[in-house]
Amino acid sequence: MKPFIVANWKMNPVNERAARVLFGRVRSKISGVRGVEIAIAPPFPYLAFGRSSRSFRLAGQDVFWENAGAYTGEISPAMLKDLGVRYVLLGHSERRRLLGEVDEMINRKVRATLNARLIPIIAVGEETRESQEAVPPVLAQQIAAALKDIPRRMLRGIIIAYEPVWAISTMPGAKFDTPDHATRRAIYIRKILTKILGVRVADTVRIIYGGSVRAKNAGDFLAHDIRGMEGLLVGGASLDADEFAAIVRSVGVESRR
Ligand code: PEP
Repeated sequence: MKPFIVANWKMNPVNERAARVLFGRVRSKISGVRGVEIAIAPPFPYLAFGRSSRSFRLAGQDVFWENAGAYTGEISPAMLKDLGVRYVLLGHSERRRLLGEVDEMINRKVRATLNARLIPIIAVGEETRESQEAVPPVLAQQIAAALKDIPRRMLRGIIIAYEPVWAISTMPGAKFDTPDHATRRAIYIRKILTKILGVRVADTVRIIYGGSVRAKNAGDFLAHDIRGMEGLLVGGASLDADEFAAIVRSVGVESRR
């Protein structure tokens, strides 16, 4: 399977013009790279500018669990779908930490996303680094809660993003995770998924890594000899078209045209 690279622009860039420019630059810089699947998650008002690109798919940075109604400020799965979105990022640590998003809300959003035939990218990860060896119980808890009571057959092909909060570049004192540690976490997450979903459905789930990924370390996070991380979620570096394209190139194949 091709590596899956997601660009999370968060609440950037600052205006429409800059967003159009960034889309254009990313599009032209990645257009010659093959063997990678790419999704870009811009702020909602910019989604339409990335529509109909053949180089990448669109992702929403969040969604609400109802399709229409009196929910001021919210965006529905149907609206995202209508804009050509394919993936939805859910449970990002910034939403959990800054906006009070809790597991039960994330679970409702996962269900609504699947009902709309969109693919959830569910972010999970521990807050602190403490011991690199010990597996923090929060990982199993967050995964189980996000998938709670959703029929297994609906969960084929979902994506889990392991994002240790301590490694996210904007966290004060952020540290780099090591590829070896991330691979061990991927193996552990697959074990949890196998327990919850059974081996056949768990096998269809892709696990990706996020946390201070740059061109210089991107390739190292993707395990080649065993089934470890199968993609990357890129925050800060995705706002620099050159750096993002270098990340994509480092895990893909440059086609000669
Ligand atoms: C993120 O917040 O999803 C993320 C991975 O950010 P960064 O790449 O900037 O660490």
